[in-house]
Amino acid sequence: MMENTAIILIGITLFLLVIIVGLLTLLIYKVLKNQNSLINNTPIRTGEAPHPDVSKSEFHPGILERMKEMERAKPKRSELFCPNHREEPGEVSCGICDKLFCKSCVKPFKALHFCKEHIPLIMRHEWEEVLTVKTSTQDPEEGVILYDAKKRLFEDKGIPTYIETHYKINVDQDYIETYLVVLAIKENVEMVRTHLSQN
Ligand SMILES: [Zn+2]
Ligand SMILES: [Zn+2]
Repeated sequence: MMENTAIILIGITLFLLVIIVGLLTLLIYKVLKNQNSLINNTPIRTGEAPHPDVSKSEFHPGILERMKEMERAKPKRSELFCPNHREEPGEVSCGICDKLFCKSCVKPFKALHFCKEHIPLIMRHEWEEVLTVKTSTQDPEEGVILYDAKKRLFEDKGIPTYIETHYKINVDQDYIETYLVVLAIKENVEMVRTHLSQN
């Protein structure tokens, strides 16, 4: 009888031990997990971001917002069809001629798109920065004026240029600066600079 009681007691003790060890393991696991997530959630300040590659989609949400804004600032001609495919709506504009093409008629290059006629122009020449204009949400006018001047330069004088949009995040990441950079073929840089500064 005494032996049986002892065996039962040992059994109960072992059972309780297993449960205690199990609970402790669970507790330790939870604590460690919390610490990890704390480490991962610590904001990392990277300071100024280099010009991001706009073809990638991992952007600071603020930058995406600015990109949409800049897109809206560009002159729009809706309900146009691709000049090469009359049944396809024009969706993407060429960085040089600003004409709207269907997606199959443009090639992506440096976050922009260029039509089949102008992609060789991009590839065969050396392009240099002409000037940089800083724009802000408060006054998008300057950007609109720049795009307009660029378009007239091409349509009236046949001088090709394209405009890149660069973004910079400031240290606290609470505001984003937008820069419009005009690029021209090396030999035309001075001429384009003169022309744009007159406008
Ligand atoms: Zn073009
Ligand atoms: Zn097309």
